[in-house]
Amino acid sequence: MPKKLRCDRCGLELSDRDDVGLALEGEDAWHASARSWGGEPRGVLPCENYLRCGGEIVVVPDWRLRVKWFLSRRP
Ligand SMILES: [Zn+2]
Repeated sequence: MPKKLRCDRCGLELSDRDDVGLALEGEDAWHASARSWGGEPRGVLPCENYLRCGGEIVVVPDWRLRVKWFLSRRP
């Protein structure tokens, strides 16, 4: 299933394929810094609005593409 990245608090989405690749590459660095602050990372990156929403970017299935696929299979 296609994947995209979304903030678990404010819902900000990164659906650009380059963003997704970059975010996954940065995951280890984020986890290391989150743990150094005593936190447990939930996602792959802090949200762009982290200071306001405190959310993290998590990988979620792209349901819109899934629905498109489903509808295209109907007779
Ligand atoms: Zn956010």
